[in-house]
Amino acid sequence: MAVIRDVMPAFDLLQPDSAAEAQTLLEQHGADAWVMAGGLDSFDWLKDRIKKPKVLVDLSGVEELKGIRATSDGVEIGAMTTLTEIANHPEIQKDYGVLAEAVSLVASPQIRNQGTLGGNVSQDVRCWYYRGGWPCYRAGGNICYADTPVGRNREHAIFGANRCVAVHPSDSVPALIVLDAKFVVQTAKGEQVVDAEDYFVGPEDDITRINMLRPGDLLTAIRIPGTWAGAKFYFEKVRDRNVWDFPLMNVASAKRLNGSTISDIRIAVNAVSPRPMRLKAVEEAVRGRPADADTGEMAGKLAIEGAVPLQFNGYKIPLMRNLVKRAIAGVAQPPMNGATAANPTAEEAICRS
Ligand SMILES: Cc1cc2nc3c(=O)[nH]c(=O)nc-3n(C[C@H](O)[C@H](O)[C@H](O)COP(=O)(O)OP(=O)(O)OC[C@H]3O[C@@H](n4cnc5c(N)ncnc54)[C@H](O)[C@@H]3O)c2cc1C
Ligand code: SF4
Repeated sequence: MAVIRDVMPAFDLLQPDSAAEAQTLLEQHGADAWVMAGGLDSFDWLKDRIKKPKVLVDLSGVEELKGIRATSDGVEIGAMTTLTEIANHPEIQKDYGVLAEAVSLVASPQIRNQGTLGGNVSQDVRCWYYRGGWPCYRAGGNICYADTPVGRNREHAIFGANRCVAVHPSDSVPALIVLDAKFVVQTAKGEQVVDAEDYFVGPEDDITRINMLRPGDLLTAIRIPGTWAGAKFYFEKVRDRNVWDFPLMNVASAKRLNGSTISDIRIAVNAVSPRPMRLKAVEEAVRGRPADADTGEMAGKLAIEGAVPLQFNGYKIPLMRNLVKRAIAGVAQPPMNGATAANPTAEEAICRS
């Protein structure tokens, strides 16, 4: 399908300077409005003329949505805080290092300077067909172009397929899930605070949405409680190139150890399913066991139970097994080929023990 990229469709640009005003505008315009944060995902859709909102509500002038604040129990990060600010923030680095690491591996410095946490967690799937304007299930049609014997599905899902096999692409989300973060959403009915993993919507619930937001809703902040502050963290992202690329897969874990025994743990992966996955069965299975290679091996095998590969993404199964293993036991050997421990190539991530 031809995509014309010359001129963006016309829209009214509304620039509120408070969250309350932003929300009033969003409620007034309902499904005709589009929330714009850093614009990195938004402008793709507009310039490709795939999404054509009548009204753009630009949050860049809403100062109260920006910044990182200490709370009585942890920190609150405004939805408009940039990924760079989070990566460089001393408290985040000290107590919630898994988040600092995850956001520092997003895309490129320029994108992290402009991209916001609210936009990163709310961004849409990257499936070629959908983003190219093909009328697939997610776009309201009745076919999936990726899930066919010849479809381009190397980056797609091995879990949770339900007509749509696109994956959630965010690097920050698994880190937020293991930190037990809460997402604060303003709706017409008032404020809703949900667990990180409950913010996301799978195709089995609504194939045209990726998160709980409905027209009129605004994500204002993400709160991280102190529960996991200073825990033993692990984050690993695998991508085709070591810069400016979405994850083929990522994994995050937060562990509390008693000696070498895992007393408590949270573990999450992304880019394997239409919505980010917290691995509760793995968490339960490894509690009370040593954080070593045998436990990691067992956890990796458990994590991939039920995985169903598509035509071209079978490599994701051994990749996920190894990432989960390392998220439990740590990295057993130094990285090769110039890759860093948190950011190996796909081939190296599968081979590394
Ligand atoms: C070339 C490229 C490479 C990238 N690589 C990676 C990567 O490796 N890893 C990764 O995680 N991400 C990656 N991204 C995504 C990037 O990190 C951006 O953060 C993300 O696209 C959106 O952030 P943004 O602030 O620009 O939001 P926008 O593009 O403005 O918004 C994104 C979506 O979220 C909605 N939204 C934003 N803020 C709110 C809010 N407060 N309330 C309600 N809805 C909201 C918008 O309506 C829109 O639908 C990449 C992007 C590009 C263009
Ligand atoms: S994977 Fe989802 S987004 Fe991609 S073509 Fe299929 S239905 Fe559309």
